[in-house]
Amino acid sequence: MYLGVSAAAPSHDRGLPSILVEVDGVGYLFDVGEGTQARLQEARRSIHDIRAVFVTHMHGDHFFGLPGLLQFMTLSGRRKPLKIIGPKSLQDYILCSERVSGHARSYDIDFRRVVEGVVYSDENVVVEAFRVCHSTVAYGYKLYTRPRVHVDLEKLRRLGLKPGPYLSRLKRGETVVVDGRVVKPEDVLDIEPPSVKIVYTGDTRPCISTVNAARGATLLIHDATFSALHAEEAREKMHSTAREAGMVARLSGVECLALFHISARYRDTSLLVEEARWGGARCVYVAEPLMLHAIEV
Ligand SMILES: [Zn+2]
Ligand SMILES: [Zn+2]
Repeated sequence: MYLGVSAAAPSHDRGLPSILVEVDGVGYLFDVGEGTQARLQEARRSIHDIRAVFVTHMHGDHFFGLPGLLQFMTLSGRRKPLKIIGPKSLQDYILCSERVSGHARSYDIDFRRVVEGVVYSDENVVVEAFRVCHSTVAYGYKLYTRPRVHVDLEKLRRLGLKPGPYLSRLKRGETVVVDGRVVKPEDVLDIEPPSVKIVYTGDTRPCISTVNAARGATLLIHDATFSALHAEEAREKMHSTAREAGMVARLSGVECLALFHISARYRDTSLLVEEARWGGARCVYVAEPLMLHAIEV
């Protein structure tokens, strides 16, 4: 669900960047622009369900909503720890805001500095970070569902094995010995590739690292701050035009492209969609606050 979708200057109806991805009732929040907690309430989402927060870069429109959200978690009696992934200075910002505001947190924060590669995983998802091309150090995030692992009963039968606790170890990738026989995971398990891949760029110029990260993605949420009419300004400010976002979507062969971080100057966004379609993507839309993009897992 998109919570806020606008570029740097806040506009009352679009809000500043924040995206909530929900998988099996667990929330993963990407960027926390000002006003994010109000949007969460409007969307009737519980802040207690948020397990991890990912921040792309240290421009205020992407993280100024964080101190308020963290304090509200305390006021609501949160006990569960919260994972936060972002640039190192984000941790300084959190600690500083807590010190000056006297916020005594009721829960632990497990902070992890963002680097390229896998930055988070749990039973539902894996999240990888990749560098993008912006005016400051910035990362995009790729979230994908965990590969599903099934026991192939036919393979098991052929090897003369019966189901047992050793299957859990195989599912964790271990090789085990059963009745004196060495069994590897691939001998009895079928591994389905991830079914959903969502890529969020944060602020960026069109970037080869995004093309690589988004290859075959279900959904690419790409910076489309400007129209091609303002391509020069997009270059200067290290953002993308909708047309450029469309090209990235085409090169990576994504199923769907969401145009995001839209400048407040575009009241009518149909032009942006038209431009992005020029790139050849089949499904293109402009993200709107509280818009839900449901994906079947
Ligand atoms: Zn921004
Ligand atoms: Zn920025």
